[in-house]
Amino acid sequence: MSASPFDLTGKVALVTGANTGLGQGIAVALAAAGADIAAVGRSKPDATQAEVEKLGRRFAWVEASLDTHAPVDEVVRGATDALGGIDILVNNAGTIRRNDALDFTEDDWDAVMGVNLKTLFFLSQAAARGWVAAGRGGKIVNIASLLSFQGGIRVASYTASKSGVLGLTRLLANEWAAKGINVNAIAPGYFSTNNTEALRSDEARNKSILERIPAGRWGEASDLGGAAVFLSSSAADYVHGAVLPVDGGWLAR
Ligand code: NAP
Repeated sequence: MSASPFDLTGKVALVTGANTGLGQGIAVALAAAGADIAAVGRSKPDATQAEVEKLGRRFAWVEASLDTHAPVDEVVRGATDALGGIDILVNNAGTIRRNDALDFTEDDWDAVMGVNLKTLFFLSQAAARGWVAAGRGGKIVNIASLLSFQGGIRVASYTASKSGVLGLTRLLANEWAAKGINVNAIAPGYFSTNNTEALRSDEARNKSILERIPAGRWGEASDLGGAAVFLSSSAADYVHGAVLPVDGGWLAR
């Protein structure tokens, strides 16, 4: 048994959307805790690879567009072939479309629901099928949002998808807890990434968001690392269907 219940030495983590933003922060935090990283996405994750390898961990890029769930079996196979198996799945890749509900298009709807919800489900299914077939458990960490709890504004498909992520996290936990598979989620608050660039460059929105965050600042990707390590580790073996907000206090307000 390793000295720390948070130690991920010898584990392999598949992280989607790890080339930038929160996924990059999570991948680096998991690597710092000892995990090797299979980064899955459509953009080459050079910066993440450099950071992970600097930490002495193995790194593989499995190229895939996650707009549809078509590549999920190939993604799991690719990560397994490259690094010998998967122990942790972090469903982080996600996108957002902003438009008034009156003007929202089917494309705005499908583009977001596809990657944020449908692919998240089928990738979880593909990973879990592998674990069940091998007679072992695993860890799934879904990236939810404050809009898993709140309505938001001008982001209809994003709110629908992230509310769906909360429900699916609970459903999968109910079905898979007894199989040794932990399914949990992290709900990030307002983090400064590409995803929130439009909000930060709108002076009035930026000010009103900052005034409402008890911590008084935007989150940085590194703020999420500890929560991801915890939910990926044996310290969370009895944690199922939980959503951990990492939001500078936003939901407490
Ligand atoms: P980001 O910097 O825009 O990163 C999003 C990641 O998802 C990128 O790696 C992106 O790849 C990938 N991605 C998006 N669509 C994809 C697709 N169709 N196929 C493959 N990869 C795709 O945003 P972020 O803030 O780090 O977001 C990461 C997750 O956190 C998302 O699920 C987001 O909803 C969630 N979140 C963010 C915040 C926040 O404040 N930033 C708050 C709550 C939740 P490309 O670089 O190739 O586009």
